[in-house]
Amino acid sequence: MSMNLRCTVCHKPYVGPQNHFVCTHCGASVESPVDLRRDPEGLRRVIREGSADGIWGYRDFFCVAPDAEPVTMGEGNTPLLRAKRLAERYGMTELYLKNETLNPSGTYKDRFATVAMTLAREDGIRQVAIGSAGNAAAAVAAYAAKAGMECYIMLPPGAVKERAWQNMAYGGHFIYGMGGVNDCVQMAEDGEKIFGWKNMCTTMMNNPLACDGYKTIAYEIARSMRFEAPDYVVCPVGGGIIVSKIYKGYEEMLELGLIDRLPKMIAVQAAGCAPLVKAYDEGKTATEKWENGDTIAFAIFDPVTFEGVTALHTVRSSGGRAVAVTDDELLAAMRECARLEAVLPEPASAATVAAAAKLHAEGYIKPEDRVVCVLTGSGLRDLKLYAKENDDTPQVRPGDMDSLRRAVEHYRKQGD
Ligand SMILES: *Cc1c(COP(=O)(O)O)cnc(C)c1O
Ligand SMILES: [Zn+2]
Repeated sequence: MSMNLRCTVCHKPYVGPQNHFVCTHCGASVESPVDLRRDPEGLRRVIREGSADGIWGYRDFFCVAPDAEPVTMGEGNTPLLRAKRLAERYGMTELYLKNETLNPSGTYKDRFATVAMTLAREDGIRQVAIGSAGNAAAAVAAYAAKAGMECYIMLPPGAVKERAWQNMAYGGHFIYGMGGVNDCVQMAEDGEKIFGWKNMCTTMMNNPLACDGYKTIAYEIARSMRFEAPDYVVCPVGGGIIVSKIYKGYEEMLELGLIDRLPKMIAVQAAGCAPLVKAYDEGKTATEKWENGDTIAFAIFDPVTFEGVTALHTVRSSGGRAVAVTDDELLAAMRECARLEAVLPEPASAATVAAAAKLHAEGYIKPEDRVVCVLTGSGLRDLKLYAKENDDTPQVRPGDMDSLRRAVEHYRKQGD
């Protein structure tokens, strides 16, 4: 497949190294644009019809050989849930949750991994490696298992244990990368030179073509909403890829005439590590490394925003904004998602709901606005953060009706 790469921001053609893609003119990320004028009616039909075969029904929007056999596990096609109880709680009218927790490995990163692994197999790759906070590695390890490929995984020591176990369950060769996520990404790049691994890091900087898998989130939301763009799409930001690629998907649909306006993108970070929000607030076009960060939202705990230039450009040109939420705010939103909508997002994902509530409370989001929060990953690996079991959990002895009555009384008193 010939790569026709250009800069996402200044649109100059990309010429440079083929393993570390950054625009040499403006520092933005690189993409392989789809030629939308070649067969616009065909492309419109693809998006209108959707995909029953993982995300591969949309393959005309990826730069993958037409005859490549996909490594797929039925990723994508996740529901867009109308969150009525949550909206009521916040005084909003139309709040939607794009439930990406239902993907095969539990996060939207499967949309990347399916494309990345398909490209790797086409290239005859046998060994892959990835540095990650945990979710990207889980996705790549899962699809590597499916493809029968060996997979090396570097996670920082602070990584959530449940993520590490999930990686090992898929047969990934697990290694602690003694540093931050950015150091782990660097280790995968180093291994590429020494061992000939294919570096599968989920960045446009490393894998610009595979990141196009994320555009399918926009196509799916558009189909679910009958091709009316919402006012806001709220995305968590770690490396800054998903927010940029969802917007890219919308831009393509606008150019194809499937929708008649674009949503505004809200980029959400944790207050304890918010390099993009800081750069946004200061009017800068690039992010700086965040020192001594700390947040429970490990999946977006990225001191270095790999695609900062592109993500800032995306947020600004969409007319949206960047916002930070505290760990307390995102934890509260996480529990409310579970109790009111029966969806279990992980902390990084619940940050979007916290941000929507906050921006609505501030009057930035209006009561009549249609808002989509992207719940990127599953909290099934974070149940400790939800659980409230404690010493006063009632106990009932078999046949003892009084203890059963006291147990019920206990919850009646709590009012829940
Ligand atoms: C990776 C990840 C993010 C951050 O996405 P970027 O594309 O790196 O900005 C958000 N939420 C979850 C659950 C993730 O795994
Ligand atoms: Zn550029």
